[in-house]
Order: sequence, then C-alpha cells, then structure tokens
Amino acid sequence: MPKLRIKVDRDLCIGAASCVTVAPIYFALNSDNKAYPKEPGLPDEPTVHERVIEVSDSEKEAILLAAQSCPTLAIFIHDEETGEQIFPSV
Ligand code: SF4
Repeated sequence: MPKLRIKVDRDLCIGAASCVTVAPIYFALNSDNKAYPKEPGLPDEPTVHERVIEVSDSEKEAILLAAQSCPTLAIFIHDEETGEQIFPSV
C-alpha cells in the first residue's frame, strides 16, 4: 500500500472546509479554523499539520480529491517512498 505524506500549509489555509466536506475521515478543522490531516483509527491531533499514512488506491483517490477541492491549494501530497510531489503537480 502506498504511503502518502499529507501536509496542510496553515498560512495558505483559509478554513474554507472543502477538504473536510470531501474527505471528512482525513481532514478536520481545528479551533483556529485551520485544517489538519487525520488518520482513521488514530487520535486526532489538531496541532499537527503533517502526517504520513498508508492508504489503499481508493483512499489515495479520496485524499487527492480533497486536495484538489482546496481553493487555495493548501494541501500538499507527497509519495513518502519516492519523495515525489503528487499534488499540486510540479
Ligand atoms: S479546503 Fe483548503 S482552505 Fe479549506 S480548510 Fe481545507 S486546507 Fe484549508
């Protein structure tokens, strides 16, 4: 299963919550109205803005859709093994 590094740039995040709507099991808003990544089955860590999680192909798709929905492109997705930036594409 691929491992993804999911990072929310808090300076770019405007709290629009599209990511939370699209993929609520992977993203939530903290009390500062900034998104943070979540890992199903693990406790929420609202102060953590970056997380590495192992995902299936369909889970990867859901996370990518959430990143694509962000109006400010505040979500960055990297392949943890290759280091390649998957989204936004470079
Ligand atoms: S969609 Fe983007 S701006 Fe909106 S909460 Fe998620 S990361 Fe922040």
